[in-house]
Amino acid sequence: EKIFSGFSKTRDNLAVIDELLLYWNLAETDRVLDELEEVLLVSDFGPRITIKIVESLREDILAGKLKSGSEIKDTLKRIVLDLLIKKGNKVDLQLGFRKPAVVMIVGVNGGGKTTSLGKLAYRLKNEGAKILMAAGDTFRAAASDQLEIWAERTGCDIVVAEKEKAKASSVLSQAVKRGKEQGFDVVLCDTSGRLHTNYSLMEELIACKKAVGKVVPGAPNEILLVLDGNTGLNMLPQAREFNEVVGITGLILTKLDGSARGGCVVSVVDELGIPVKFVGVGEGVEDLQPFDAEAFVNAVFS
Ligand code: GDP
Repeated sequence: EKIFSGFSKTRDNLAVIDELLLYWNLAETDRVLDELEEVLLVSDFGPRITIKIVESLREDILAGKLKSGSEIKDTLKRIVLDLLIKKGNKVDLQLGFRKPAVVMIVGVNGGGKTTSLGKLAYRLKNEGAKILMAAGDTFRAAASDQLEIWAERTGCDIVVAEKEKAKASSVLSQAVKRGKEQGFDVVLCDTSGRLHTNYSLMEELIACKKAVGKVVPGAPNEILLVLDGNTGLNMLPQAREFNEVVGITGLILTKLDGSARGGCVVSVVDELGIPVKFVGVGEGVEDLQPFDAEAFVNAVFS
């Protein structure tokens, strides 16, 4: 329901498609597909995906496979669903068999990293896991206070920097060591999110990744990139850079309860080949849900 209402703007934009297709006939194909292209672009699908969708529909129409507006609409929805569910993409968290599993949460400031970490802790704890939080955003002083509030709220343990200006990598390494010694199942690592253009942030993330890998071979098991669902196609270069530097294993799209820009979800998944694992639909402990591609498609195309 929350996703459905969050995507109301995208759905309103895309509703034009129904009218377009209602009067579709073979002779009108070019005009209808041109207009469809416009609608998809306005809804943040981005040029690459838009062309893919429109050309695939054109091919099917010209081959005589699609004979009515409603068949075209169904095929459009199926194409988008196929783009979201890539073969081999694992949508479940991959936590491996070694304890503790390590999950790093990365992304630019304000996207919802700390909040998502808190909600993820709540979710995993409810599934029976013993969770340790690590306050790796040592750059922003308020970040560890914020994470401590989440630790209290969810009843999870937390490791914070012992001194000011501590290195993020040493806080995370210390947390994973404690996780190992004290039998925690999962260590959730918060990280700093200074602007993505800041090279030293990327160096810091690489150092964090190496530091946790030294304590537990194979860690981090997941590196989840948090993206603000309202940023539209601007999220693409951001996601590309994080992925190139640290290798993202999954996405968390936040603030889908606001007025999220639907099309870019498809663009980012297609371009990076990385699955959306969770979506944020509010600020409460229960407001992180596994991504359901089918529910998404039904929410954007009414
Ligand atoms: P960080 O800087 O990336 O750690 O971002 P924060 O976790 O501090 O979140 C920034 C703001 O976004 C806070 O006010 C959060 O409460 C809010 N926020 C995060 N996720 C969501 C979400 O899914 N929905 C809504 N409505 N707000 C969110």
